[in-house]
Parts: sequence; C-alpha cells; structure tokens
Amino acid sequence: MLRHTPTPIVEITDPIVEKAGVRLLMKREDLNHPFVSGNKWWKLKYNLEEAKKQNMRTLLTFGGAHSNHIYATAAAAAELGFNSIGVIRGEETLPLNNTLSFARQRGMTLQYVSREQYRNKTADEFIDRLHQQFGDFFLIPEGGTNELAVKGVTDFAATLGDDFDYVCCAAGTGGTLAGLINALPSKQIIGFSALKDGEFLTQAVARWVGGETNWKIVSDYAFGGYAKTNSVLAEFIQQFELRNNIPLEHVYTGKLMAGIYDLIQKGYFHKGSTILTLHTGGLQGKRLF
Ligand SMILES: *Cc1c(COP(=O)(O)O)cnc(C)c1O
Repeated sequence: MLRHTPTPIVEITDPIVEKAGVRLLMKREDLNHPFVSGNKWWKLKYNLEEAKKQNMRTLLTFGGAHSNHIYATAAAAAELGFNSIGVIRGEETLPLNNTLSFARQRGMTLQYVSREQYRNKTADEFIDRLHQQFGDFFLIPEGGTNELAVKGVTDFAATLGDDFDYVCCAAGTGGTLAGLINALPSKQIIGFSALKDGEFLTQAVARWVGGETNWKIVSDYAFGGYAKTNSVLAEFIQQFELRNNIPLEHVYTGKLMAGIYDLIQKGYFHKGSTILTLHTGGLQGKRLF
C-alpha cells in the first residue's frame, strides 16, 4: 500500500465568501502524499492492488509531458517496487522538464509517440505493439481513469463527512467527479472543466455513473482551454495564495477556485449553504508567474 497522510478540511474565510453568506471549506488532499498527490493517489489505489494481485511487475500508462498522472504513477511504482513505462505524447524535448525528469529518476521508461499515434492509444494494434516491445504490463489509461479509479475516489468521498451541501472539483477526464457522484447522492456535485469542451466531459462522466441527476459540469472557467492561462487567472491565483496561504496551480485548482469565486459572487450557491471544494493536488506542475 502507498503511504498516505491524513489531510485536513480547512475553512476559507475570504471577505468575498463571507459577504455572500456561504461557507467555503477546502479538503486539502494535496497534502496526502509528497509525490502521489491529491486525486491521483485515490485513482491509483485499486489499480496498484489489482496489478499486484495479477502478479504484474510493470505498470504502463499514458500522458502529456506535464502530466500529473505520469508523475504520480512513476512515484507510486517506485515506492511499491513496480517497473513503470510512460507513453508520452509528442517528441522528446531536452532538457527534460521537471515532470519527466522526475519520472525518469523514479525509474520510469519514457516512450515518446507522435501526436497522431497517441490519438490511437486505445486501439488494439497500438497496445499489441507495446506488448511486443515491453512484454507483460498492467495498463492504466490516460489520466488514470477506469472503473478501479472511480472506486478509489468513492473511498475518498467516505472520508469527507457530511457537513456540506455542494462539492466542487476540477475535472479533466471526469473520473474523480464520477467517484464523488456515486458516493454522495444527497449532495450537489459540480465539476469545473479544465477543458473548453464540457460536453465531452459530461458524456465521459455519464459512462461511470448511474442515472444520478445531482451533478453538473461547468465549463465557463477553462480560460481558453487545457493548460492555457492568462493574466486574469494568474492574478487570481496570486491573490488567493496571498490571502489564504494555500498554493494553487493553473491547470486545475486555479481554474476551479476562480470559478467558485465567480459563482459565489453571482449568487449561484444558496445563502447559508456550505461548499466543499477539493484541492486535488497537481502542484508538481506549478508554473511560477
Ligand atoms: C488529474 C487532475 C484532475 C482531474 O482529474 P480527473 O479524474 O481526470 O477528472 C484534477 N485536479 C488535479 C490537480 C489533477 O492532477
């Protein structure tokens, strides 16, 4: 089992929040592990157990050059004694960035594939070729989202207690969101899309949940698209960090919090309600402005 440090729920007492008459709590799951941080820990949990059960010695997964999931998988594999292979989108760029040089230090084999090939990464022929090259491996999909990942997030949701009305979470593949929806049927679950195309995400999440209607995807706070940023977002993150002493990054949690603050100011959340937001980690990819 991976190490796991229990994490606190803290209250964010920004004037903006207080003025709106709501309570804002944050689950600091970014603090759960130094390298396998936030939601990635929970998404990997049952995948790692399953790999061990199947006597697999190697994990193989996919991601971009800045992927939090690649970083987390490399660290988890090293901690538990698996070999790891990262299939990386695009060409190698030297020197390696922080994410990939960390992954390499943890023993991950980096296999670069063209963007075109990467698009076919779920095709049988592509996976067969990887097997010819690397032999046996336990495959974890891009972003780590599969049924076992959703199940792990359901376990995480059980640690959250009951003292809130809304749960807000950043969404990439939607796996984390799906776990929350499954575990918390009596709460309103809101996913803040890190991608422009929220429609795609809605369909992705629907695959992993039953007929629940207690959730929605907000895609108004993608700030131009995945991993894009601008001065408004940068300014928001800086101000938030100064006031609350909690670090955010620009791919997921910065956009999430900017979105929540905007919705709070627009009166989206009922007066007197409590919003629980999840800090899903990802600070390894933090770009300094
Ligand atoms: C990967 C990641 C997400 C997105 O999780 P999904 O399950 O893919 O939606 C959100 N926040 C952070 C910090 C992440 O690293």
